[in-house]
Amino acid sequence: MVIVMQAGATEAQVEGVIGTIKGFGFQAHPIHGVNLTVIAVVGDKTQEHLEAFQLLEGVDHVARIDKPYKLAARRPEIVGTTVIEVGPAIFGGSRLTVIAGPCAVESEEGLREVARGVAAAGGAMLRGGAYKPRTSPYTFQGMREAGLALLKMASQRTGLPFVTEVMDTRMVDLVARYADMLQIGARNMQNFPLLSEVGQTGKPVLLKRGLSSTIEDLLMAAEYIMSTGNEKIVLCERGIRTFETATRNTLDLSAVPALKRFSHLPVVVDPSHGTGHSWMVPAMAKAAVAAGADGLMVEVHQAPERAVSDGPQSLTIAEFQALMEALQPIAKAVGRSICP
Ligand code: PEP
Ligand code: MN
Repeated sequence: MVIVMQAGATEAQVEGVIGTIKGFGFQAHPIHGVNLTVIAVVGDKTQEHLEAFQLLEGVDHVARIDKPYKLAARRPEIVGTTVIEVGPAIFGGSRLTVIAGPCAVESEEGLREVARGVAAAGGAMLRGGAYKPRTSPYTFQGMREAGLALLKMASQRTGLPFVTEVMDTRMVDLVARYADMLQIGARNMQNFPLLSEVGQTGKPVLLKRGLSSTIEDLLMAAEYIMSTGNEKIVLCERGIRTFETATRNTLDLSAVPALKRFSHLPVVVDPSHGTGHSWMVPAMAKAAVAAGADGLMVEVHQAPERAVSDGPQSLTIAEFQALMEALQPIAKAVGRSICP
């Protein structure tokens, strides 16, 4: 690990940091550059040590140089974000890519209406669950293969590629036959056999952050997929479990700059699962774009009050249209535009 001191850090601050490093029983190797001082720390460090160093006076940031993820890690030769193409939808370029659609595929007419609305509003990709990871075994579990067929039909009609979740290694081949992109849901982020199986299909993967996963856990999950030779991964921040109950999850927007710093993979934000409330979605979607996200995933339903799952967090088609318009100036302010 290296501790990068702030430009203009004083000699006393550098000595203070070295004293702390030695106090932990580690070796400190200061390197005095023209503009700043970097201190290499040698020893068996933990996350706690890293956090303690981060708090010391004069420290700009602490960087681990021994990242356990190698393929997902930002490397000096990769400038900017790796571009992942899913047909006409492009993640990681100058345009933002918005994925939208219902939580679950419920009916042909409903999906058709939403898909049409998403395409008309400028969405780049359709989403919809055919296999749903429901907390209760007694609630709607999804239309399964019939849902995949409806997604395919809606996709062909609108020209929007689609992403859908695959929950089980036994379903990977089937889902991959229909979908343009495979989603690994939050609950399966550390289902390692599933990650490998999905990787082996060679299809682009939307990898959602687990409910209780750290940034490093997420990147290690990406590493599992990448180690199969499939590097087409888009990371998705969708909120994490905290003590807060005003929101369904706590949307960790700091994950965006963190992932951008540590990895070269594109990052999208899901403000629907991230908040659980449709009225919070526009604000958090705008904040995600301002924070540097490469895209969004938003739940949209033709009649949210009748949705069989996640109605309270789903936008109506009109609300989605308004959101897409409201995002334009935010995108422009951060040097981006919106696909397609
Ligand atoms: C979803 O996107 O349909 C979903 C179930 O989300 P998550 O896995 O993030 O809960
Ligand atoms: Mn949902």
